[in-house]
Amino acid sequence: MKLAILPGDGIGPEIVAQAVKVLKALNLNIEMKEAPIGGAGYEAAGDPLPDATLQLAKNSDAVLLGAVGDWKYDKLERHLRPERGLLRIRKELNLFANLRPALLYPELADASTLKPEVVSGLDLMIIRELTGDIYFGQPRGISTLENGEREGINTMRYNESEIRRIGRVAFDIAMKRNKKVCSIDKANVLETTELWRQVMTELSTEYPEVELTHMYVDNAAMQLIRAPKQFDVMVTGNIFGDILSDEASMLTGSIGMLPSASLDANNKGMYEPSHGSAPDIAGKDIANPLATILSVAMMLRYTFNDESNALKVENSVKASLAQGYRTADIVTHGCKKVGCSAMGDAVVAALN
Ligand code: NAD
Repeated sequence: MKLAILPGDGIGPEIVAQAVKVLKALNLNIEMKEAPIGGAGYEAAGDPLPDATLQLAKNSDAVLLGAVGDWKYDKLERHLRPERGLLRIRKELNLFANLRPALLYPELADASTLKPEVVSGLDLMIIRELTGDIYFGQPRGISTLENGEREGINTMRYNESEIRRIGRVAFDIAMKRNKKVCSIDKANVLETTELWRQVMTELSTEYPEVELTHMYVDNAAMQLIRAPKQFDVMVTGNIFGDILSDEASMLTGSIGMLPSASLDANNKGMYEPSHGSAPDIAGKDIANPLATILSVAMMLRYTFNDESNALKVENSVKASLAQGYRTADIVTHGCKKVGCSAMGDAVVAALN
């Protein structure tokens, strides 16, 4: 198996180093090669997705990514900014399905801003379409009108087959869980998502065991805070999923706990934490590496088909939390506050 390691920017290198440490401790036969992306790609080759990085990713079975971005690149032309590298690699690898589990570990019930009875036992999976929607739709841009006023344009588009293939991922995953899919749209206002609702409804006839419901995105944002445990699998488009998955991440206490997988049609995947590059805490050895370590577990499960080692990694994370180890973002009274690297060591120790 071949794995491309793309640490990226900010806390990326620190958290990826911990995930690699855990992966190496499993002693699997995985060939790992590292390459720059994002701001690091721009520094190394003048491109947030250098050709060599893209080739390495294409030739690998999976990609482990840290995060990209730093405010110091905000003034670069748009196509040179770190985030462009990320959007391009997702598109180039055809990673259309983004899986973001939001799972609340009992040990962290106090870290959530919501009452424990609202969130304890939470286990939901948000499935976000990743290569279409308003983030990619043409026409786009900022132009000047005849009267001299500027106008910004983005276009929300989805075709039927794009909706059907992400719907299928959601239904297949629901079949392995509690057999409930909630499809999120804004069908009362946006024709693009009216089509989304029609296609999801058609697809549901192929999955008679799965209960399909529909919800408008504004209500979904509210329900996630009011009663998040009503959801099993949520499926939605790129922009709604971007926002709702960040909201869901906060239910669990810290964005530093949430892994993600982005898959193509053959389960080749890119695995990364749900959070960004956190430039505010980069280089201080205080970032939480658990989201990245849990992303390795998802990689073992979805691309390498190795459920037993995936569970081993997840159980080691649980064991480290049960032993009281906490990084600064999730620390509560009476716990052992540790840095990024020590947290990685705790997970490796629990593996052994
Ligand atoms: P962010 O997720 O980087 O940080 C938000 C807050 O969460 C910060 O206070 C940060 O310190 C904290 N945080 C994030 N990850 C953490 C971790 N592992 N442990 C402890 N605390 C953590 O989002 P932002 O501040 O909006 O963006 C910073 C940069 O990251 C920007 O350049 C943005 O474009 C980029 N970004 C990249 C990705 C990605 O690579 N997938 C995603 C989102 C944002």
